[in-house]
Amino acid sequence: MTSNPGAASLGKVWFVGAGPGDPELITVKGQKLLSQAGAVLFAGSLVDRAATLYAPAGCEIRDSKDMTLEEMTEWLIEQTSKHAIVVRLQTGDPGLYGALIEMARPLVAAGIEWSVVPGVSSAMASMAAAGESMTLPEVTQSVIFTRVEGRTPMPEGEDLASLAAHRTTLCIFLSITLMYKVEAALRAAGWPEDAPMLVVHKASWPGEERILRGTLADIKQRCREAGVASQAMIVASPTLGALHWETLARSKLYDPTFTHRFRKASA
Ligand code: SAH
Repeated sequence: MTSNPGAASLGKVWFVGAGPGDPELITVKGQKLLSQAGAVLFAGSLVDRAATLYAPAGCEIRDSKDMTLEEMTEWLIEQTSKHAIVVRLQTGDPGLYGALIEMARPLVAAGIEWSVVPGVSSAMASMAAAGESMTLPEVTQSVIFTRVEGRTPMPEGEDLASLAAHRTTLCIFLSITLMYKVEAALRAAGWPEDAPMLVVHKASWPGEERILRGTLADIKQRCREAGVASQAMIVASPTLGALHWETLARSKLYDPTFTHRFRKASA
């Protein structure tokens, strides 16, 4: 990204994905940038550990939880006049529900360079925690990242019932307090009451992660009993529980009877 000629002395803003919570799940590149940062603006209580663990002594570290978007971009712009590397640290991947473009536009308008370092999304961390796969041969080969409507309206054609009609893996963000809407949508799309469901609270957080398994019929009750009402990923997928199925279609790539570019069939 190029900026205006007068911007040569200005620092660059890096939107860095901190990962889902475990500070070891930030990328090597993200960690390196943090360790060289002159200023870090981190998102709420979710990613402070990575900031405080990896940022150098003397780095200006600021929590954005009580700031408006205008205040955040103003702060970032101000920091670029003092520091070569300014980091905006976000949970998971910055491009998922992260106001990335809204924050980048004022930077572009101010002639400030910016880049994104991707992060491990909580959707990935949740499936990893549960030892589940998002895709399985002949079961589903697609994944939908979505949410239900809260205060942010859903664009037309994206209501959960229409998306659920595809019977793919659904990773549902930002919706744990709206579980009744999730259930209603899955039912409207014809998912059976015994469809397996997964809720992961604080995926990857050392000592705090909780994995709840259930079905469409009982997952809400299980969440209530466990007191899980925030920071949780809801997954509905025909792949859940496949570890214990009696039969499973094989991946062609590793099938002995299948020839491909790097291996001849052996059986
Ligand atoms: N950019 C983030 C998502 C931010 S939206 C990402 O890629 O993961 C915030 C939502 O993400 C939460 O409501 C919750 O649904 C989910 N989330 C974030 N961190 C989580 C974690 N450690 N475990 C489970 N869900 C998490």
